[in-house]
Amino acid sequence: MNIGFIGLGIMGSPMAANLVRADHTVVGYDVSAERLAALAAIGGKTASSIAETVAGADVVITMLPDSPQVEEVAFAGDGLLAHAKPGLLYIDTSTIRPETSRKVAQAAAARDVHALDAPVSGGERGAVDGTLSIMVGGRAEDFEAARQVLSHVGTTIVHVGPYGAGQTVKAANQLVVGGIYGLVAEAIVLLEASGVDPGPGLDVLAGGLAGSRILELKRHSMIKREFTPGFRIDLHHKDMGIATAAAREAGVSLPLTGMVAQLIAAARAQGHGGLDHSALLKVIERINS
Ligand code: NAD
Repeated sequence: MNIGFIGLGIMGSPMAANLVRADHTVVGYDVSAERLAALAAIGGKTASSIAETVAGADVVITMLPDSPQVEEVAFAGDGLLAHAKPGLLYIDTSTIRPETSRKVAQAAAARDVHALDAPVSGGERGAVDGTLSIMVGGRAEDFEAARQVLSHVGTTIVHVGPYGAGQTVKAANQLVVGGIYGLVAEAIVLLEASGVDPGPGLDVLAGGLAGSRILELKRHSMIKREFTPGFRIDLHHKDMGIATAAAREAGVSLPLTGMVAQLIAAARAQGHGGLDHSALLKVIERINS
């Protein structure tokens, strides 16, 4: 299959690499020349414009930071929708606002382009291993058409509803992830302040009811205060904005989500926006220092 891939960052780069490994022809585009060179080095083709990426593609995947970049790539005069051939399958795997996904999907449908919102969970590790969880919003027949391509980047691939539903599920995912990081940080602070080694302490937690992928994968780096991203605080801050806006639109109160959003905002205000979101630990430590 000919796949155009736009946005070759922490997540997009290993996802594109897995598609190359699965013998698809991948034409990648990114505003960063360094990112393009990395794709070329593993056997992908590179394009110098969105038009070139989309021309001849059966499927286009985007993995961009936020809603404005997705709108720019989709709607620009020389952008994706302007150059898409009829029948193109367009899978946006970025985490963005549900209303932006709906707007893009409706504009796409008017040009006979089949759009899906398909945000992912599993982090850089999941992207490298091809084991992402993918939550897909859009038409059922487009989901079925996308399933084979997505199976090369993820293992849990679920159709969760109409356009935008994938993004709403991702917002729910992000509030759970933020909450767990906050509580693991509090557990580390409690254990250390009590003179208990957090290493074996968190090993036990990881094997019990409190166990989670976060405890499994990140407890050692958190205890060592290694906060290389991974997933940047800045991006999680964006996601908490999406979650709180979704809650307002749905007319529900999510008090813990509000608290987690404020802790992530504090991490950013303290200059940690470029660190991994596990750096929430720095905020909890500062509250206690
Ligand atoms: P990133 O910043 O590493 O990658 C984004 C890439 O998009 C960059 O390489 C950037 O140069 C490129 N880009 C930006 N604007 C562009 C444009 N107009 N045209 C072409 N390329 C452009 O970010 P990331 O960590 O890979 O995250 C991407 C998305 O995935 C975000 O929405 C994020 O919330 C989501 N996400 C990230 C993770 C994670 O662990 N990093 C996990 C799940 C979901």
